[in-house]
Amino acid sequence: MPVSPFKTAPLFASLLLAFTATAQAGTGPTTISAHARTVQAGAINLDTHLDTPALFSQPGWKITDRHDAAKDGSQIDYPRMVEGGLDGGFWVIFTGQGERDAAGNLQARDAGLKRLAEIREMVAANPDKFELAATADDAARIKAAGRKSVYISMENAYPLEQDPSLLSFYYKQGLRMLSLAHTSHNDFADSAGMGTALEGEHHGLSEKGRTLIEQANKLGILIDQSHSSNAVFDQMLALSKAPIILSHSGAYDLFAHSRNIDDARIRALAGKGGVIQVNSLGAYLIDTGATADYRNAQRKLFERYGGRRAMSAAQREEIKPQLAELDRKYNIRKADFDDYMRHLLHILKVAGWQHVGLGADWDGGGGVTGYEDITQLPKVVQALLDAGYSDTQVRAILGGNTVRLIREVQALADPEAVKAALK
Ligand SMILES: [Zn+2]
Repeated sequence: MPVSPFKTAPLFASLLLAFTATAQAGTGPTTISAHARTVQAGAINLDTHLDTPALFSQPGWKITDRHDAAKDGSQIDYPRMVEGGLDGGFWVIFTGQGERDAAGNLQARDAGLKRLAEIREMVAANPDKFELAATADDAARIKAAGRKSVYISMENAYPLEQDPSLLSFYYKQGLRMLSLAHTSHNDFADSAGMGTALEGEHHGLSEKGRTLIEQANKLGILIDQSHSSNAVFDQMLALSKAPIILSHSGAYDLFAHSRNIDDARIRALAGKGGVIQVNSLGAYLIDTGATADYRNAQRKLFERYGGRRAMSAAQREEIKPQLAELDRKYNIRKADFDDYMRHLLHILKVAGWQHVGLGADWDGGGGVTGYEDITQLPKVVQALLDAGYSDTQVRAILGGNTVRLIREVQALADPEAVKAALK
């Protein structure tokens, strides 16, 4: 409970807000209260979808340097994690879906192993700042030791298409969360597509996908539905022995985008103990006005620079005015902090506070006006308190729910399967 010396603070803050409302429209709280800082410091702040490992192999990019999102587009690094109060999260092995033939599968296998090695190398190179996390208790222990948690997750199981039994190798190396598909179908599952729902190939999960889920359950690996189709959601929920996660998703009932999830399914997820972590990718939060033509033009522009994730700092500078010009030409509207909070508060209302958390998709397309990088995480804390959530509820949302889920999923694992994988 707030103590009396701070009693006048909210009034002062709201006056300040009123004065700055025009300039700051949509960008969220302008000041963070001492109380919000205390609540956040007492929480374990975890984001369940950090795409930052895609930057680890970029020449000149270092996790220990402080970067500027406005300059190079990057949103997470050690100095900014400290500033924003993020204690860690799930660091992603992402592989874009390619050809589903022998050559494609081998390429994906190698790409997955390379990214796994890069994550582990980042931790090994910074033992005073980062530590691999494998269990629910690790998050609090690593925070107390003054380091940041690195749980490992995989987005798109494409690297396992060649040999699904690699899952136990990944487990031994630290993998604790697995999503099946990305923006197109693969051998395991149907994708939700990128706006318009795709026609199902497997009508949900394939046989291979079902087996993978059984394996993940046995090892205590969290099963992540984000990017998969609604049919996959329904089947995962029915099949999985453990509660599941949506590591970075939004609310379909607020914006009918195929990547978002509807209220009935959010309720079903919560009913089985799962959690949904709210995404901050603008094109999933609001109708930005982006047409297929716009997306094509943008993709071609990125391709000219070797792809969105592969660009150097100089290339990012070069492409910036061209992207801005494209946005002007197509009248693209940008989502802002308020749009993000609308999804978060809606999902909280539908799922209940024990089933919601944060998965902003930093360095993977996430971030909106007023919520550009991890330094702005305290604004979410303030906004949740302003919306009436209690200290306990806010701490659960910031990471407590994720820790609870990891604990439950691991408790339901098969000890023999875990022992065999760790051998
Ligand atoms: Zn994603």
